[in-house]
Amino acid sequence: MIELKYHFIHLNTVAPNSPQSKVLIIYTGGTFGMGQDETGALVPFDFNTLIEKTPSLRQFSLQVSIIAFDEPIDSSDIRVEHWSEMARIVERYHDEYDGFVILHGTDTMAYTASALSFAIQGLSKPVILTGAQLPITSARTDARENLITALEIASAKDKNGDALVPEVCINFNNLLLRGNRAQKIQSSKFDAFSSENFPPLAQSGIEIEYNLANVHRSNKNLKVFSNWNRNVAIVKLFPGVSEDSLKSVFLNKSVKGIILETFGSGNAFTDDWFERMLKEAWNREVVILNVSQCIGGEVVQSRYKAGRHLEEAGVISGRDITTEAAVTKMMHILGKGLSFKSTINEMLSPISGEMS
Ligand code: ASP
Repeated sequence: MIELKYHFIHLNTVAPNSPQSKVLIIYTGGTFGMGQDETGALVPFDFNTLIEKTPSLRQFSLQVSIIAFDEPIDSSDIRVEHWSEMARIVERYHDEYDGFVILHGTDTMAYTASALSFAIQGLSKPVILTGAQLPITSARTDARENLITALEIASAKDKNGDALVPEVCINFNNLLLRGNRAQKIQSSKFDAFSSENFPPLAQSGIEIEYNLANVHRSNKNLKVFSNWNRNVAIVKLFPGVSEDSLKSVFLNKSVKGIILETFGSGNAFTDDWFERMLKEAWNREVVILNVSQCIGGEVVQSRYKAGRHLEEAGVISGRDITTEAAVTKMMHILGKGLSFKSTINEMLSPISGEMS
């Protein structure tokens, strides 16, 4: 069990008199919050100086509070406990704030955004993840733009006072993407995220242009789920893979679910040993979800013979879901401890707009 400690920082200097909106920032770590010390080494940045580093924040009528992890982490170290803690913080402060901004490393941001979209259901406030490719203290940083736009989106309301985008999203380099549709596609350019199978929910230029028709609005009551089953695996197929290599996952008794990354529109080799292995896993009630290795398009298992045999062996179609959303959804659904049939049914039903 990981014990998480965090502290509150109130930035009362931002529009202290009558702020129109209140936003809670949750700072977890990543490149965003790095600064250089006297020796030039990268060390966590002091969030008490956020206004100093981002003076344009003063132009917004916002009251910003920050919950900062005591030990900021590289997002490679994010665990299910962090997802659960973030979800609980949003639940605890949901009615007190107009929106939430989560500052997170970019490497696993799409996994966290997907996980949170399943862990926090019935949201009526925006939860906007952002980060940066360069630290906030660096001259050419993208951190300031990403943060300011994320705060603006997290606090945006319609004329009835309802949040414009009450979803878990990623805001990065002027694009607002549904969190469970986004993927990190670039490790060095500023436009690090893309969502091939779903249009952006907003694009920011001179104005922020929202695509409100595509925003997912939940009519459920707020509910947080924090049980994850970590006994899942992702298997990326490639031509020539050996039976023995795949057996180590498919016949492993601890594995309860497999994301099978297939070719094109959901195809795989038709060797007898592979079909036997799939059927054996199905008989042991292992959930196998077919997700394409392509970042755009969808799985249609009935299109080719090379896909139909998967369907016949009990593999279910992930349609146009991303691998990040597929694996976190599987951890969430298996975490509910349902029957095999109900697990399959839930995997096939969209929860928060993760598949068409
Ligand atoms: N390794 C960093 C992280 O994911 C990269 C970043 O923040 O962009 O935490």
